Amino acid sequence: MSDSLQATQYSPLLGEETAAHSGHGDPMALRERSLLLREIVAAQQEKAAERRTFLVVINIADTKNYDDIIRVFGYKFADDLLNIRLADLDFIRQDQPAFRVGFWSIGLIYRTTGEDDLRYSWAKLNAVLAKPLICRGIPISIKAGIGICDLMKSPIAAEDLLQATYLAGQAGAASPTGWTECNYDLAEDHRRAFTLISDAGHALTTADEFQLSYQARVTLRSGQADAVEALLRWYHPVLGRVTPDEFIPLIEATGLVRDLTSWVLAYAIAQAAKWHSDNQKLKICVKISTKSLEEDDFVSRLRELLETYKFPPAYLELEFSERRSFSNLPVARGRLLELREMGVNISIDDFGTGTNSFWSLENIPANILKIDRNMIKSLPDNVRHQALVKSMIRMAHELDMEVVAEGVETAAVRDMLHGWNCDFAEGFLLNRPMPADAFISWFTETFPRN
Ligand code: C2E
Ligand code: CA
Repeated sequence: MSDSLQATQYSPLLGEETAAHSGHGDPMALRERSLLLREIVAAQQEKAAERRTFLVVINIADTKNYDDIIRVFGYKFADDLLNIRLADLDFIRQDQPAFRVGFWSIGLIYRTTGEDDLRYSWAKLNAVLAKPLICRGIPISIKAGIGICDLMKSPIAAEDLLQATYLAGQAGAASPTGWTECNYDLAEDHRRAFTLISDAGHALTTADEFQLSYQARVTLRSGQADAVEALLRWYHPVLGRVTPDEFIPLIEATGLVRDLTSWVLAYAIAQAAKWHSDNQKLKICVKISTKSLEEDDFVSRLRELLETYKFPPAYLELEFSERRSFSNLPVARGRLLELREMGVNISIDDFGTGTNSFWSLENIPANILKIDRNMIKSLPDNVRHQALVKSMIRMAHELDMEVVAEGVETAAVRDMLHGWNCDFAEGFLLNRPMPADAFISWFTETFPRN
C-alpha cells in the first residue's frame, strides 16, 4: 500500500485505526512525514497533566552506513535490510503509527504515564536496535541512534522540532545510552543557517549588506607595507553582523558561491584599482573558495575583470586554504598554473594546521605560503611550534616561496619571526581589518611615502 494512500485514510487528530494502519505485516508501511508534523502540532496542544508525550526519531543507521551499504550491496539489499529492522521494531508500532522521516529514519509519537515506563521503553528499543543484523546470510554492522523530544516542553514549530529530534538521533548513535534529547539550540542554529542561505542571494544584489574590510601586510625586512588583504563582512538587516566563518561555509555548500566569489573579486579589484590610480600601489589579496576555482569560466571571468579595471595581475594574490581540498585536483592545478602564467600570485592559506600540508606544497603551484594564525599565536610559549615555524620558513624558501605569518598580535612574535627570516606579517599588531576609507587614511598616515 502506498504512503499517499495511507495519508488519505488516516485521521491523525482522532488517532483512529484505519485499514491503512493495519499493515504491520508489511514493514515498509510507514506513514508520510507531513502526517507526523500534524501529529506533533496536535500533541503540543494536549494539556494532559498525568501523561507525557514524546516525539521519538529512530535513525536505523547513519547516512554513512547507508551509503556504504548501497555502494557495496546495492539498493535491493539495502531495502531488505531496512525491512528486517523495521520488522524487529514492529512491537513499538503495535501501539502507535510510525512515520517515515528520512531514508532510514522513522518517527513516532510516544505517550507515557511515568518515568519507569519511559526507561523501560528506551532500554527495550536499544536492545532491539543493537541486535546483530543478518541479511541474506551476511552479518551487517550498523549504528542506530534515537532522538527524543518532550513535546510538553517544546515551544518551537513542528518542522524545526522534527529536524532537531532527527539530529538528536544522529548524535544518539555516538552516545553511550544510544539516545540523546533534542537540543533546541541546534534547531535554532539550523534555522539561522537556513535564514542566512536564503538571504545571501538577495544580499549580493543589495547595496551595503556585504562589504569588504582591509588588513595590511607588512614586509618584515623593511617595516614597510605594500599589500592588503580583503576580508568579507555581512551586515544582515535582521541578524546584524555575521562573521565570515559562519556564513562562508554555508554559502560554499550552495551554488551561490560562484556569485559570492565574483562579488568579492569585483569589489576588491575595483577598490585596489582606485587606490592605484591615486598612486597607492597596493597588492590586493583575496581568499577564494576552492569550489570557485573549479568553475569552467573562473579564469576567463577573472581575466575580464582585470582587463576592465586595467589592473596588473602581479598586484593580485589569490589565497586557497589547505584545509579545503579540491574535488578535482588535475582541473584545479591546471587553472592555478594558468593563473600563475598570467602573473597572478597564488598563496596557500592556513598552512600548518590541516592534515595535508606536504600534499598542498606538492600539489598547489603557489608562490606564497601563509602560516596559520593558531601556529603563530602560540609561538612565545610553545617550543615545538617555534621549531615547526622555523622549519616551515626554511622549507618554503628552499621551494622558492615567500612566507607570510598570519595573526601576529605582539611585537615579541613579530621580532621572533623577523629573526627567522619570515618575509611578511599580518595581524592585529599592525591593524584590525577596516572599511576601505578608514583603511586608506590609516595606511597613508602609518606608511607615508617619501
Ligand atoms: P583567513 O583568510 O585566515 O583570514 C584571516 C582572519 O583572521 C580574519 O578573520 C582576520 O580578521 C583574522 N585576524 C587577522 N589578524 C588577526 C590577529 O592578529 N589575531 C586574530 N585572532 N585574528 C586575526 P575574518 O575576517 O573573521 O575571516 C575569517 C575567515 O573567513 C577567513 O580566514 C577566511 O577563511 C574567510 N573569509 C573572509 N573573507 C572571505 C572571502 O572574501 N572569501 C572567502 N572565500 N573566505 C573569506
Ligand atoms: Ca588564513
